[in-house]
Amino acid sequence: MQLVFATHNPNKLKEIQALLPDTITVLSLDDIGCTEAIPETAKTLEGNALIKANYVKQKYGYDCFADDTGLEVEALNNAPGVYSARYAGFDANSDANMNKLLSELKDTTNRNARFRTVIALLVGNEEFFFTGICNGKITKEKRGKAGFGYDPIFQPNGYARTFAELTADEKNRISHRGKAMRELINFFSLQY
Ligand code: IMP
Repeated sequence: MQLVFATHNPNKLKEIQALLPDTITVLSLDDIGCTEAIPETAKTLEGNALIKANYVKQKYGYDCFADDTGLEVEALNNAPGVYSARYAGFDANSDANMNKLLSELKDTTNRNARFRTVIALLVGNEEFFFTGICNGKITKEKRGKAGFGYDPIFQPNGYARTFAELTADEKNRISHRGKAMRELINFFSLQY
């Protein structure tokens, strides 16, 4: 069975291929010649994941899954959420996004936050969703060099280190994306 993962990120692709049964081959957007940026215009993670999966299914005809992730901060009514990548503006880098979040929170004592990943899967005429959540706190300053995005200011519950101070393996074991991917893999091991 061939399945497209709607991503241009080769690391994400390798990670999931290694975990899926050999009977399933995962192709990336580049593998199917989809080089254009797929617009992510929905207001929810579920909506954006579905837009990406639908785009591939309709334009290229493949069964497909797509993921979308957001950082939801309790004291900010779950912002930046679906807008996490462009919190400080469309061209914003991770530093600008983190600086904006730290300054919005200032000295707020409620630092509770969670990363949430949603995966939308389209197989034949059916659609399925898988979710992974990692609960934690926003630190007062950046710590650590590993990872990407908001990792230096996110400290998962039960850890004294931020995501950026964990090894990739440690992060994968507890991360939102790791959990959502394992839900997907579980589904496939039961079905195929
Ligand atoms: P995406 O849906 O995986 O592209 O994630 C959207 C945005 O959420 C990224 O641009 C990052 O800013 C943030 N993000 C997603 N996953 C992580 C993570 O594991 N650590 C830190 N930031 C993340």
